[in-house]
Amino acid sequence: MKVYHVCDICQRIFNVSEQEGYEGSMAMQGMCEECLQEMGFADNSSPSQQFFYN
Ligand SMILES: [Zn+2]
Repeated sequence: MKVYHVCDICQRIFNVSEQEGYEGSMAMQGMCEECLQEMGFADNSSPSQQFFYN
């Protein structure tokens, strides 16, 4: 069976994997790489915003 990994955030299918022994297909909720990065899970570097007042 085909397992469709659907992103919880952008609702995009970001991965498809095959599972043997089952028929049909199913969807699994998850998070794609892009959304993971956007949420800051992938890397910890936060955009440094600095404001200078003179
Ligand atoms: Zn996503």
